[in-house]
Amino acid sequence: MVLDTLMAPDFASSKAYETALAQFDRAVSFLDLPDGVVEFMRHPKREYTVYFPVQMDNGDIRVFTGYRVHHNIVLGPSKGGIRYSPHVTLDEVRALAMWMTWKCALVGLPYGGAKGGVVVDPTKLSLRENESLTRRFASELTPVINPHGDIPAPDMGTNSQTMAWIMDTYSMTMGYSVPAVVTGKPLNIGGSEGREEATGRGVIIIMEEALKRKGLYDKGAVRIVIQGFGNVGAHAARYAVENGFKVVGISDVSGGVYAAEGLDIPALYTFTRDGNLLSSYDHPGVEHLSNPELLEVDCDVLIPAALEGQITERNAGNVKASVIVEGANGPTTPIADEILRSRDVLVIPDVLANAGGVTVSYFEWVQDLQNFFWDEVEIMRQLKRILLKAYDRVAEYCETRKLDMRTAAQVYAIERVARATLTRGIYP
Ligand code: NAD
Repeated sequence: MVLDTLMAPDFASSKAYETALAQFDRAVSFLDLPDGVVEFMRHPKREYTVYFPVQMDNGDIRVFTGYRVHHNIVLGPSKGGIRYSPHVTLDEVRALAMWMTWKCALVGLPYGGAKGGVVVDPTKLSLRENESLTRRFASELTPVINPHGDIPAPDMGTNSQTMAWIMDTYSMTMGYSVPAVVTGKPLNIGGSEGREEATGRGVIIIMEEALKRKGLYDKGAVRIVIQGFGNVGAHAARYAVENGFKVVGISDVSGGVYAAEGLDIPALYTFTRDGNLLSSYDHPGVEHLSNPELLEVDCDVLIPAALEGQITERNAGNVKASVIVEGANGPTTPIADEILRSRDVLVIPDVLANAGGVTVSYFEWVQDLQNFFWDEVEIMRQLKRILLKAYDRVAEYCETRKLDMRTAAQVYAIERVARATLTRGIYP
């Protein structure tokens, strides 16, 4: 099988921090903040790198590199996912941690931002190797994670099982169960209803709001294309179809599939969850596309939900969608942003579009701390309320300050963190 990607993923991940800093610099240029406070927010608070051994199934001992970066903890404990990918770098983790700070601040969650990662291709590990690696990494993280200081969650390459192993390892060290140390856990050990689907559903809630405000809300007519069919992409596709929208294109790491009349998303979900790649999907009327082609295909809404750095100066001019909803973190580079702005393409930024995940993670954490669990109806009601309120905030800043949505979202978030920093004062 030939893997096609828009660009080498390590190029994308190494550019992520540049993107995060360029976005930050643009946002702060619209604010009047003390230089020192800007400098403080521009840097991570602390960075933790570990090299740890894991015994592989063949008896070899391999040493892996892992990171956890706490970007900012002014608004509360830091929150952010853990990524397993061969392309993880410290710079990528820094970028993702910074975006988490702005996302939590924008949505109004009492959290700062963090992120973690291990340089590993999880698809090349057996289940036992994955468990050993995860437990050893969790053990290495014990000094920096805890339910009141830093709370990890799943991201690319990790899932609820990974969180279960981290929670169990941490609990064994403490000597009692600590479910609130991670979110995105399975339901039977303190997970929350709706967490698994939350990011994807949130993406569609935000997309619907954007279409309504743009006067494009004609469910049957809107054609959606989604890059990435993992946790975010697949649940976004399923929720879109359940809500009457048509998903015409999706992709995974092996490439994309397209059908102008709409894809059978439930069938594709079962197909991929059985361990198949989309490149091997064979169905009448379904065309195969590469990932680069998928991003430029004719559609109304494009949802990048895989990696950062996918919409660049190379393809931004060819994107056909009039609305881009960023399911992934950092999928659009700053130059691509400029091109899209000049072409009047509405870009709903990651910090708003994919905030559903951390919002339900917050609900999970609150439920774990209170030992009192809510039903799915309540979760969805609160999720919609919080996301739409965040949308309103961004729309108001766009309107009153004449900003694009990304800059408006970051201006609001950065202002909030800066104000809290000044209210708390500079220690000592
Ligand atoms: P995942 O591992 O569940 O799925 C990733 C998907 O992307 C898979 O379908 C994979 O095949 C595909 N993919 C990987 N490399 C690719 C490439 N080079 N080209 C095209 N497709 C590729 O990951 P996820 O949790 O769905 O995360 C996806 C994105 O969403 C990431 O940017 C992540 O940071 C962001 N995000 C995730 C969450 C969450 O709750 N999981 C929350 C907010 C944001």
